[in-house]
Amino acid sequence: MAVGSVDYIIIGAGSSGCALAHRLATSTIASVLLIEAGPGVLPHMVRDASSWPLMLKSEYDWQYRTVRQKHSADREFDWPRGRIVGGCSAMNGMVYLRGAPSDYDEWEQQGCRGWGYQNVLKEFRSLESYHPGGSKYRGDSGPLHPRKIATQHPLSSAMIEAALECGHRLNPDFNAVAIEGVGWNDLMIKDGRRVDLGTALIDPLRIRDNFSVLTDAVVTRLLFDRAGTRVRGIEHEYGGQLATILADQEVIVCAGALDSPRLLMLSGIGPAAELEKLGIDVVADVPGVGKNLHDHLLIGVVYEAKVPIAPINVNVTEACLFARSDPRSTQCDVEISFVHEPMFSPGFNPPSNSYSIIPGIVKPQSRGSITLASSDPASPAILDPNYLHDEADLRCLLRGIEMSREIGMADALSEWRLREVVPGPRTADKETLEQFVRSSVCTWFHPVGTCKMGIGSDSVVDPELRVRGVEGLRVADASVMPSIVSANTNAASIMIGWRGAGLILGRHESD
Ligand SMILES: Cc1cc2nc3c(=O)[nH]c(=O)nc-3n(C[C@H](O)[C@H](O)[C@H](O)COP(=O)(O)OP(=O)(O)OC[C@H]3O[C@@H](n4cnc5c(N)ncnc54)[C@H](O)[C@@H]3O)c2cc1C
Repeated sequence: MAVGSVDYIIIGAGSSGCALAHRLATSTIASVLLIEAGPGVLPHMVRDASSWPLMLKSEYDWQYRTVRQKHSADREFDWPRGRIVGGCSAMNGMVYLRGAPSDYDEWEQQGCRGWGYQNVLKEFRSLESYHPGGSKYRGDSGPLHPRKIATQHPLSSAMIEAALECGHRLNPDFNAVAIEGVGWNDLMIKDGRRVDLGTALIDPLRIRDNFSVLTDAVVTRLLFDRAGTRVRGIEHEYGGQLATILADQEVIVCAGALDSPRLLMLSGIGPAAELEKLGIDVVADVPGVGKNLHDHLLIGVVYEAKVPIAPINVNVTEACLFARSDPRSTQCDVEISFVHEPMFSPGFNPPSNSYSIIPGIVKPQSRGSITLASSDPASPAILDPNYLHDEADLRCLLRGIEMSREIGMADALSEWRLREVVPGPRTADKETLEQFVRSSVCTWFHPVGTCKMGIGSDSVVDPELRVRGVEGLRVADASVMPSIVSANTNAASIMIGWRGAGLILGRHESD
């Protein structure tokens, strides 16, 4: 297919972009071009499910970094992001959890018509072929194959037992009726190998005449018609040269929560005053672009084991617990992951034969922003998640540590437990524990929200994912989440891309 002009251009072959491209290209005869900054040939470490940490700080990682976080001991946080076909799905922890039904109902209540749980459930079902089979909640004929692991690690089983002993209930499927409880994760792993979105959804398209993918090409800005109201195409850098491609129908930005707002702002869509200061011509004054940045945070409670921990079977984390930090609350706000290795905690050096119980906050209240440092597309943006700005996030992490310690001290783990090494016995009082949280809390790699979907003046896209103030442009990725889902964000990002294709086609699962 010649690429001077196509019907649809999708920018970014990450989790959402791959899902959108797959559904669009297989549902229409229109020509679809997927353009990706990174390479299309995946290295061995993508395929091997256990070697994903090697992807961090490699050439396949954008290697972003936040500004100093004043409520988190003045630290800068590394923010890895996949730069490869598959995007973050090629380097993530492969946990596949949708979030709670109430997450999506909340979106609908905020004005995102068509995004309530009953609607998105249909999208998830049409995406998936679940092993062992379909049900009211699980699909059986979609292109994605999430599954539970076949061989469970005895330490994961002991951790589940420990949580049950502490009064939490067993949840046989987090992606079904409700999220609360303890149980086994769905994983994007088959026969010990990662199933990234490029392999699952893009490889099958390569034989189609109406689809092409251009890799190693960085989109530098969007192009508009003379009136400046309709997007006409893109400018990109490929092999050291700038080139343009036109879109006869639409351009869809799927560059992720950090790069989608950056690309909009570089193209003149964003807070007018901020853009003018940098000498960028304003195409549309959309104040919400880059705002509402938020992320999940986690912190490790680590135990040295008294018996050798067998090497991981498949994944470093196989099971988790969703719980409420306050029993009066109706929603789970803590996700506790069970991990067979010592979690990295700044300031600590636990023995290698250790395991971790890792509480994370999944309903963070703190909000930050992404702003441009310059009008140069090669210059990184200023990333400020404003971690722990809201005291409620600190309180929730402290409660998560308490719950993790209860589980860690349960009888079911007595055969494994030697002693707690992080944060350790010196953190019995509240003040030292707070200090531990601020100085050791880590990102969960789930930034979202920077091109917020909604109907208010702070929104960037409407519920059809169309960008305010211009025509022919949508955003469909993790950046559109008005509020983060209360579980790991990959499944929700895939669903957003999938539903985005349905919206473009005028066909979606809520019809
Ligand atoms: C280390 C790590 C571990 C994680 N673990 C899990 C997990 O176990 N489970 C889970 O659910 N979630 C996990 N996540 C989060 C999850 O993977 C992401 O939320 C999800 O993949 C986001 O999808 P996306 O499509 O919005 O963005 P991405 O997947 O980041 O895709 C964006 C794509 O756009 C490309 N791009 C960006 N700018 C340009 C440009 N200018 N031109 C061309 N292309 C561009 C990028 O290279 C990338 O391929 C993890 C993330 C990381 C980084």
